[in-house]
Amino acid sequence: MRYYSTRNRGESYCFYEALLRGLAPDGGLFVPEEIPRFRPAVVSSLGDMGFQEIAYETLHPFVKGDIPDAALQDMVCGAFTFDAPLVPAGERLVLELFHGPTAAFKDFGARFMSRAFAYFRQGESRPLKILVATSGDTGGAVASGFYGVDGVSVTVLYPKGRVSPLQERQIAGLGGNIEAVAVEGSFDDCQRLVKTALSDSELNKLLALSSANSINIARLIPQAVYYVAAAGKLTAADPPAVFSVPSGNLGNLTAGMYAMKMGAPIGLFVAAENSNRAFDDYLATRNFVPRPTVTTISNAMDVGAPSNFERLSSHWSLDELRRLVKGASVNDSDTKSAMETVFKDCGYVLDPHSAVGWQALTVLCESGTLSGGTFVVLATAHPAKFSDIVEPVAGPVTPPPCLQEAMGRTVSSVTIPPDFQALNALLRKV
Ligand SMILES: *Cc1c(COP(=O)(O)O)cnc(C)c1O
Repeated sequence: MRYYSTRNRGESYCFYEALLRGLAPDGGLFVPEEIPRFRPAVVSSLGDMGFQEIAYETLHPFVKGDIPDAALQDMVCGAFTFDAPLVPAGERLVLELFHGPTAAFKDFGARFMSRAFAYFRQGESRPLKILVATSGDTGGAVASGFYGVDGVSVTVLYPKGRVSPLQERQIAGLGGNIEAVAVEGSFDDCQRLVKTALSDSELNKLLALSSANSINIARLIPQAVYYVAAAGKLTAADPPAVFSVPSGNLGNLTAGMYAMKMGAPIGLFVAAENSNRAFDDYLATRNFVPRPTVTTISNAMDVGAPSNFERLSSHWSLDELRRLVKGASVNDSDTKSAMETVFKDCGYVLDPHSAVGWQALTVLCESGTLSGGTFVVLATAHPAKFSDIVEPVAGPVTPPPCLQEAMGRTVSSVTIPPDFQALNALLRKV
C-alpha cells in the first residue's frame, strides 16, 4: 500500500515512511492511496472471528509490501491483548474501549504503533528516539504503549504541575525506556520544543528522532479494528449499527469511516462533540471554521481545529459526509445530566467523554434526525479516570487494576525551563 499527502498526490510513500515522518513534508496528513475492501467471505464470518484475527484482516492490506504476514501476526498478538466488549445499557449498546493498560481507547493506536516502530528498527544500531508533547492523556498511552518495546526510547514532555496526579504517574512512573520531562511552561511550550527538536538538523545527525503524534496514520488505522469487530457481532436480524463517536481531533471517527468503507456492516455515524463543535457546525452550515478551544469536562475532546478534518475531506465529499455522519454538540450541563440519567435508568456509569456520545444520540433521536438502528455508544475512557466529575453524579467508581497499579508508582522526571537549549542538552546526554 502506498500513502499520499492530503495536499499532494504527486509523491507517494511506503507505510514505514508515513509512520516515521508522521506528517507529510508539505504539512499535509498521510492517507492510503485507496481504502481496501474486505472479501465478502471475511465480512460474513466476522461474527466467528476473534479480535486478533479481525485485527490481522483489517490491518493486513494497509501494511502489505512493508510488513511480512508473520511479523504482522506477532505485532497484532502483542498489541491487542485486551478485548473491546459490547455491553448492553438500556436499549443501547456500549462499546467499551477502555480495557487496555491506560483505561482509554488511545491504547489501541499507541500499542500498534510502538510495535510497528520496533519492527522497522530491527537490526539498526542506534535506538530510535520518540518525542511526544502531551497535555496529559496522550502521554500516558504512548508511554505505556512503548514501555519495554525493543529498539525504541521515548521522551515525553508535559507541562509541570498542569497534569493530574494519575496522568503524571502514567507518564513519569514507568522508567526503563520512557523518560519524562516536566517543562516549566504550558502544553504549547512542550509542543514547540518537540517541533524544534524534530527539525533541528544537528540533533537529527546525532539521533534517530521521530514523533508519536495523534495524527500519525499508524495510530489511526488500528482504531478501525474495533468498529469491524463490533459491527461483526450484530446479527442479520439487528438493524444496522449507528456508532456514536465522542470526537475531538476526529481520528476515531475517521477510523470508523475507514471500517465502513472496507465493508464492515455499519449504517451511520454520529460525530458527538462537546462545545468545541467545528465539525458539527460544518455539517450543518457547509462551512468549516476552526475556533479557539473551549475548556469542558470532556477535556480530551477540547479541540477547536480538528486535524483529521483534512483527512476526512480528502476521502469524502461534503455531501457524502452529510449522508453518512450526523452531528450533535453537547454542553457540560447536558453531559452531566446524561451521566446521571444513564446511571439511574440503566445502572451504567459513563465517563464524561462517553456521556457526550450517549447524549448526542438522544438529541438526534428527539429531533427526528435518527429513527432506527442498533445504537452503539463508544466508551472512550473508564469512568474512574475522571472520578472528580463522575462521583458526584453516579457515586464511587472502583478503579480498574491498571489504574490502581499506576497510582502506586513513584514519579521520576527531569524538570527543564521552556527553552530548546535545555531540551537539546538533555537529548544529547547519553
Ligand atoms: C482522545 C480522546 C477522545 C477524542 O478522540 P479523537 O480521535 O481525537 O476524536 C475522546 N475521548 C477520550 C477519552 C480521548 O482520550
